[in-house]
Amino acid sequence: MSEGERLTELAKRRGFYFPAAGAYGGAAGFWTYGPQGAALKSNVEDAWRDRFVLQEGHQEISAPDVMPEAVFEASGHLDGFDDMIIECGECGATHRADHIVEDNTDIEEAESLPNEDVMDIIADHDIACPSCNASLAGEPVDNFNLMFATNIGPGTSSPGYLRPETAQGIFVEFPQLSEYARNQLPFGVAQIGKAYRNEISPRKSLVRVREFTQAELEHFVDPEEDEPPLADVEDVTLPLYSGESQQAADGGVEQLTVGEAVDEGVVTSDWVAYYLGVARDWYERIGIDMDRFRFRQHLPGELAHYAADCWDAEAEIDGDWIEITGFAYRGDYDLQKHAEHSGEDYTVFKQYDEPVTVERPTVDPDMSYLGPEFGGDAQSVADALEALAERDPEAFEGEDVTVEVDGEAYTVPVKETDFSVETVTENGEHVRPHVVEPSFGVGRLIYTMLAHAYTEDEVDGEERTYLDLPPEQAPTTVGVFPLMDKDGMAEYAREIASALREAGHSVTYDDSGAIGRRYRRQDEIGTPYCVTVDYESVEEDTVTVRERDSTEQKRVSIDGLAETIARLTEGETTFDDL
Ligand code: AMP
Repeated sequence: MSEGERLTELAKRRGFYFPAAGAYGGAAGFWTYGPQGAALKSNVEDAWRDRFVLQEGHQEISAPDVMPEAVFEASGHLDGFDDMIIECGECGATHRADHIVEDNTDIEEAESLPNEDVMDIIADHDIACPSCNASLAGEPVDNFNLMFATNIGPGTSSPGYLRPETAQGIFVEFPQLSEYARNQLPFGVAQIGKAYRNEISPRKSLVRVREFTQAELEHFVDPEEDEPPLADVEDVTLPLYSGESQQAADGGVEQLTVGEAVDEGVVTSDWVAYYLGVARDWYERIGIDMDRFRFRQHLPGELAHYAADCWDAEAEIDGDWIEITGFAYRGDYDLQKHAEHSGEDYTVFKQYDEPVTVERPTVDPDMSYLGPEFGGDAQSVADALEALAERDPEAFEGEDVTVEVDGEAYTVPVKETDFSVETVTENGEHVRPHVVEPSFGVGRLIYTMLAHAYTEDEVDGEERTYLDLPPEQAPTTVGVFPLMDKDGMAEYAREIASALREAGHSVTYDDSGAIGRRYRRQDEIGTPYCVTVDYESVEEDTVTVRERDSTEQKRVSIDGLAETIARLTEGETTFDDL
């Protein structure tokens, strides 16, 4: 069994996750988190919120899942959020054309190739349909938009879309959000929420799904002035798989500190480097195995056209590298697009320390001259004159000035432009912030945490499986068991369970089956501690506490039991020191 298969089996059996709507045959790419999975997911989200929102002093919002078409026209998703699709002429199955190429040739990043090239490669290699084995040669490769479309209200006049990423819900609200931040850069806005992508071929359980949770942070910065607090993370060691290494014959992962990565120019954006450092420690905190982890730089062909530098955090499972987070420096692309399409102001007014006096060239072209002279082009000529005055005031020094509109030259006497240079006092300027974006997929984090936590060993000659999840993340913190349901043990155990719950612990009470089986059940969901009530407990007010990883047991007083568990789970004391 592959790691993924045994994980999916455990996940289903123990209530982490399972295919949704199974009673009706389900729909590929939709999963339900069961009780353990939902608890784990909420713990991961809390840990993310703690590190990327609260500790950074950022703000969190919650925007709608459905947004009107105009938002996605502006963001570019309507036109460009496509994957390459190929349909089998024999069985009708659809596949990601680029994935088929990558799976059957040694070509990587087929996504960045034009459709025709992908079609040619499929024909040249005579690649077969993964579903029915018929040849796919000659089948067209088309673009398939990944957004789920819907209608807002009755009728079809208001198309809407389920958001394909949470980010747009932040970008589009920038004018409002900037006001809440008192127009002071830098500031960060985060969101944890659902994203929807109608993936052509969902696969690997939680890895490629059609509805998933993202945790995204958009950090708005002044590109001229703001610097990240690099000193906080400069000694964090990053496993970096740079573009250069990926292209070199003998290239591999290099271990560089954040400081070194910046000094050597391996990571070009200081902001991206900062978040790689923060994230590296956070991944370790949630239990991702740092020996099966790397940051991979996007290759030039992979890079979104607006992004200056992008790195993916990747985790290894079953020999494959899975992208769990994308880190991008997006420049002002998103805010610029929304400004252009909405006509609203997506800038921040930056106040100068002291007002400055500047010379401002202006024109006020005489339309009663331009109109008769240039007809329908008069307004465009006027706009071009205005732009030219700002860009190159010296062009107005002669008798005539010439501007170009749609490739055609228009010459205007300078006196008709009313060109002048005014001296004005300015208190500040409008700055369009740049954006640094760490974008996490919560489902992929959970899949990785579980795969990396999955451990098999032997205890007293018996095999067992356990998840060595960090106590902070484990869905259940304490299992409470009466040794037997007699002589007051069950009542006593129930009281302990209540007291632990009151103290804020996540507790499972279990009195069914042999005690060994109860331990195995908790091991398989990663419960770090189990408390057992026996005869001595009732007489002496003590219980045994068992530690998951070592399976060792200690007898402790029930006085302060809740605090002891809290100190253990928070790492303030160790089991050995009990
Ligand atoms: P992207 O916008 O494609 O860079 O995605 C950002 C993050 O969302 C990725 O790093 C993944 O963790 C997650 N993600 C993207 N697509 C999917 C999907 N189909 N299923 C699950 N997670 C996804």
